[in-house]
Amino acid sequence: MADSVSDAARVLRRVFGYESFRDGQQEIIEHVVGGGDALVLMPTGGGKSLCYQIPALVRPGTGVVVSPLIALMQDQVDALRALGVRAGFLNSTQEFDERREVESAFLAGELDLLYLAPERLRVDATVTLLDRGKIALFAIDEAHCVAQWGHDFRPDYLLLSELRERWPDVPTVALTATATPATHAEITSRLGLDDARHFVADFDRPNIQYRIVSKKEPKAQLLALLRAEHTRDAGIVYCLSRSSVEKIAEFLVANGISALPYHAGLDARTRAEHQARFLREDGIVMVATIAFGMGIDKPDVRFVAHLDLPKSVEGYYQETGRAGRDGLPSTAWLAYGLQDVVQLRKLIDASAGDLTHRRRLSTHLDAMLALCETVECRRTGLLAYFGQQRIAPCGNCDTCLTPPRTWDGTIAAQKLLSAVLRLQRERRQKFGAGHLVDILLGRKTAKVIQHDHDTLKVFGVGTELGEPEWRGVVRQLLVQGLLAVEGEHGTLVLTDTSADVLRGQRTVLMRREPEPAAKSASTGAAASKGAKPRRVAVAELSEDAMPVFERLRTWRAAAAKEQGVP
Ligand code: ADP
Ligand code: MG
Repeated sequence: MADSVSDAARVLRRVFGYESFRDGQQEIIEHVVGGGDALVLMPTGGGKSLCYQIPALVRPGTGVVVSPLIALMQDQVDALRALGVRAGFLNSTQEFDERREVESAFLAGELDLLYLAPERLRVDATVTLLDRGKIALFAIDEAHCVAQWGHDFRPDYLLLSELRERWPDVPTVALTATATPATHAEITSRLGLDDARHFVADFDRPNIQYRIVSKKEPKAQLLALLRAEHTRDAGIVYCLSRSSVEKIAEFLVANGISALPYHAGLDARTRAEHQARFLREDGIVMVATIAFGMGIDKPDVRFVAHLDLPKSVEGYYQETGRAGRDGLPSTAWLAYGLQDVVQLRKLIDASAGDLTHRRRLSTHLDAMLALCETVECRRTGLLAYFGQQRIAPCGNCDTCLTPPRTWDGTIAAQKLLSAVLRLQRERRQKFGAGHLVDILLGRKTAKVIQHDHDTLKVFGVGTELGEPEWRGVVRQLLVQGLLAVEGEHGTLVLTDTSADVLRGQRTVLMRREPEPAAKSASTGAAASKGAKPRRVAVAELSEDAMPVFERLRTWRAAAAKEQGVP
């Protein structure tokens, strides 16, 4: 064993050229070198690859690495070969001859690492091939892809359950940056890793500043952020649709920023070219759908901006986690608005799959919304979602720097809900948020006149608030489950709990948008220049604040229960 330790350290230095292990790596590597199974939960950029690459080099035989990142296999293998590691890959993009060459190298015992696309296991020939060679270990990278509960499920990953059955004696290490208990449980059971040791790293990324703002003029807001804090910085801007990727990239280029689009609708060559430029050149802003980023190893990404709401907290964490892998101050910025909620709910309603599937998507979205609407430290909330407790607010996220106040929104909530109720009862009609707000504000729009809505009792009763505030009210009622969106047109409907508010049996606390004087909340640069972020004592945080974290915890518990986690 002492030998394997020094072997590992030697490989780290001689092959990879690193002086020392990072937190956690040595322990994991020793365990796997010694033939143990492991589940490795480490944030993006934590250094998971070495945890299977070094054991593969130390143990006799080939390390077989299953990865969903087919587009990156060539790069990964090239990088290893450049270090003198004997690596190869098998996936569907290969020519027959190329595949034959890799197969014979594996059989001859001349490969240290073999990267394998999961769908290869559909082919009997692959299984036979593996049977005939010597396997040092299996590494399942991005192991959360096996979890149907998770946010990034890949059906081909289900084939991996066969590995354990067929090769029970080969040590297996599963690695992921997704840390929710429900996902762990599913990875463990699907891969047959009941006896695996769990290695859980600290998920906090202290150099990332989290900021979530309400969406007004998204393009202008993004441009202002880039100009004020990230001139000539490399960054990623995530959008939900391909068309918005194209539009935002064009807009940024027109404003003098080196932006490139990336989405699955672009041909493979363009994608590869854009990815290569992002990795090699300085200061490229990649405007992308979530098709971009998994496995991308670029240390100096200074910001990740979301122009649309991520579908889950896991997704948000992984995507923002691509910022600041070099440990320097970085920004995670998200703009979200009512329309995001409506749009994502619509997508969920329209999504294929059974009710359980839709409920799962909905739970993921609810937790994400709670994180957006919280008045408490965002970092604390994010880590709480992953089951990691913090003792104090971080002092560097937007809610810590500019604590949002809460206000008693019961009356506003009653007005809005009774408008929904009256339309439903008196007119048998349902409408979206925009029209309801028009009614409350007493606007005689064409639609209001057409439907005779200026004769409703609630017409014009909401002039004490402006349109953005009303949209905020709708958003928060949705987040609190006191209102729901329905159908293709995103119409608003009451829920089981709406009546409590209407009857005055329940007060509704709401988050007041902080003034957009976010300059103090700017970070990155400020933090590195030594500007002291204002520390917020726990007591200072509104005690009666909307109990979002209670809800986050409840959701996690519900999720875990649904998964059968004790
Ligand atoms: P993950 O898969 O966890 O996202 P990677 O394995 O891609 O992370 O590693 C991220 C980066 O950290 C890579 O550039 C890698 O070379 C570097 N790295 C990993 N371990 C060490 C180490 N012990 N010393 C220095 N750099 C390391
Ligand atoms: Mg990785």
